[in-house]
Amino acid sequence: MNISIILDKLNKELSTYNCTLVAVSKTKPSDVILEAYNAGQREFGENKVQELAKKSEMLPKDIKWHMIGHLQSNKVKYIAPFVHLIHAVDSPKLLNTINKEAAKNERVINCLLQVHIADEESKYGMTESEIEDLIESAEFLQLKNIKVVGLMGMATNTFDESKVSSEFQQLNKFLKKLQKTHEGDNLDLKELSTGMSGDYQLALKEGSTMVRIGSTIFGARNYP
Ligand SMILES: *Cc1c(COP(=O)(O)O)cnc(C)c1O
Repeated sequence: MNISIILDKLNKELSTYNCTLVAVSKTKPSDVILEAYNAGQREFGENKVQELAKKSEMLPKDIKWHMIGHLQSNKVKYIAPFVHLIHAVDSPKLLNTINKEAAKNERVINCLLQVHIADEESKYGMTESEIEDLIESAEFLQLKNIKVVGLMGMATNTFDESKVSSEFQQLNKFLKKLQKTHEGDNLDLKELSTGMSGDYQLALKEGSTMVRIGSTIFGARNYP
């Protein structure tokens, strides 16, 4: 199947849920990304800073670039001028750095806070109470150049669908709770970034507003 047919099918599926498709183009060359672009796709996700910066230079300027992977503070400066949304903010330190680099570029960078929802030790993210502490802190209120627009999570990598669903559900519940209890100039909690190729249909049922899909669109990658 070609990319435009796959995108068409995915977009039809997502439209009933009012969900945004982030096409995860990591490891894929520019001509493949352009094929998706020419089929109408404008939001793309990458997980490595260098690759993201290079592709943003080479490809059309109306692409909205999502940084979806773990981000080190010392690399924020390379994507701060153009990045559309940073999905995996997992520490107050990283958020402070993003704020500082956004200020240098005279812009506000939208961010999602990554919640640790999976069983696996290796997955990044904060606990629910760490997130509450963060957004209630005096320091957070001072951050004028970031906006936290929601939460992101990665479910356990398992064939047990009920487990994956319940992790997504828990995250959605937490977002709803925060929406009720927290507000601020730099908080606009509306997005829930959950779901990848293997589990996006479960994520949609549990309130995802943004799915990050790579291999379903572009085929398997040689490395992760
Ligand atoms: C690679 C990646 C995806 C997409 O994975 P697929 O299984 O190819 O859809 C989604 N989210 C993150 C954080 C990723 O690193």
